[in-house]
Amino acid sequence: MGSTNQDIYAELAAEFKAAGSKATVLTPGMPGYDESIKRWSDTCEKRAHATIHPRTTPDIQRTLAFAHTHTIPLVIRGGGHSTSGASATSTGIVLDLSSLRTVTVDPTALTITAGGGTTWADVDAAAARHGLATVGGTVNHTGVGGLTLGGGYGHLSGAHGLTIDNLLAVRMVLADGSSVRAAADEHADLFWAVRGAGQNFGVVTEFVFRAHPQREAVFGGMLVFPGEKLGGVVEFANWFHAGNDGRQTLLFGFTAPPPHGVAVVVVAVFYNGTETEGRGFFAPLWELGPLVDGTRSMPYEELNGILNEGQGFGGRKSFGGGNFTLPLEPKLVEGIRDDFMAFVQGHEDMGESLMLFEGVPFKKINEVASDATAFANRGEYYNVATMFKWYDEKLDGEVRAFSKALLKKASEDAGVWKKGKEGQGVGQYANYAELDHDATEMFGKNTKRLAELKEKYDPGNVFRSHRLGAKPAEVIVH
Ligand SMILES: Cc1cc2nc3c(=O)[nH]c(=O)nc-3n(C[C@H](O)[C@H](O)[C@H](O)COP(=O)(O)OP(=O)(O)OC[C@H]3O[C@@H](n4cnc5c(N)ncnc54)[C@H](O)[C@@H]3O)c2cc1C
Repeated sequence: MGSTNQDIYAELAAEFKAAGSKATVLTPGMPGYDESIKRWSDTCEKRAHATIHPRTTPDIQRTLAFAHTHTIPLVIRGGGHSTSGASATSTGIVLDLSSLRTVTVDPTALTITAGGGTTWADVDAAAARHGLATVGGTVNHTGVGGLTLGGGYGHLSGAHGLTIDNLLAVRMVLADGSSVRAAADEHADLFWAVRGAGQNFGVVTEFVFRAHPQREAVFGGMLVFPGEKLGGVVEFANWFHAGNDGRQTLLFGFTAPPPHGVAVVVVAVFYNGTETEGRGFFAPLWELGPLVDGTRSMPYEELNGILNEGQGFGGRKSFGGGNFTLPLEPKLVEGIRDDFMAFVQGHEDMGESLMLFEGVPFKKINEVASDATAFANRGEYYNVATMFKWYDEKLDGEVRAFSKALLKKASEDAGVWKKGKEGQGVGQYANYAELDHDATEMFGKNTKRLAELKEKYDPGNVFRSHRLGAKPAEVIVH
């Protein structure tokens, strides 16, 4: 197990200094340490032996060598949003990439190069200055690192596919300390693995994305409806399923926000076009009579920031994922809502929890074969996510068990886990999975090849706290 001897961290800091590096090493009690172990979910705030903040590739190589020499477990922190604990540790060190924040855009080559610790806000803003965009997450303080390596869905997926479908290359430091480029023409097997299971294979210092011309003004925002309008929203989603042309997204779900804790239906819409086009497309929603209308025309770079407010740091949280198909019987969704609400309203301080049916058009995503990348969640279905938020540590186990059971039931009743849906993807987005899913649940038929590549690139399982163990029999999720 790892050493707790603080002297070795002072030595590492001295080594960085002697090499002229600006990398920092924080140990408990030092200014900045407590801040450095904060995560999106309080369940992931763990007291690491040290947090290391590299600035360069040699800093990362030095840290890996240090961890190897002292046999100290190591985890990597990108944006710090995973709720599985994958980017936190209480038994080792954190390699915190949040200083690797450079983004450069090449408007001629149509590429965006982003540092391993960038957030989507960094990327969206830099690209927008050139009238460009790539497929980023819908809450822009999430990390480019974790979101990309796990697949990546966003408002532009209907037009351009997953984030990994727009990934041209990565530069990464492997377990043996070498820094390599992985792309279709170089380490192609590693590049295959990186796109869906990248967290298991190394430290990505740089992502290169394809950029697409993006109009500045887009239409989007949140609508809130009384609980009894859920059926009407589901009817609209059924129409959306056939009626969208990939330029729209429709996320709908339910929550019971404080202070009143009354169940409401929330809908986030996006139309990659003018306000007139957007209002026309989503018109039936206004006929349902929203209580709150936060929709508007806005610059694209603002779009992925509009959901930030309800999704900030703090509180204990658990993300979970399943799948659903459309069209859906409204009664079925109402039943799922009733189960969700009974749990949320039956516990104290849980009203900020949310269940979201994510209408991200899948036609473009499904143009890439399921075995073309490690990502195995492509099919004719959508993701459904739970985001539970609570404050009492004693509820951790109960919330996770409830979330898993609810998503299983929803996916069996409303998704591709129903009998007779052979030939589809796994129906489990790895980035929404907690620790209690094994690798085959997330990678399906790709698991065997992934395990072989893990053996090739990380036989000692240095990047152990993620999704694959070194051997399939020892699978560790996330
Ligand atoms: C509020 C919220 C909104 C979300 N919205 C979306 C969405 O719109 N679309 C979507 O697809 N997903 C979404 N997600 C899920 C998101 O993809 C995952 O939570 C993802 O893990 C976040 O990445 P991170 O870098 O912020 O997290 P971290 O916890 O820092 O990292 C997650 C994993 O990736 C590894 N990692 C991170 N960076 C690197 C790197 N550079 N090199 C190697 N390994 C690295 C970490 O070690 C860890 O295993 C959302 C999550 C939240 C909490």
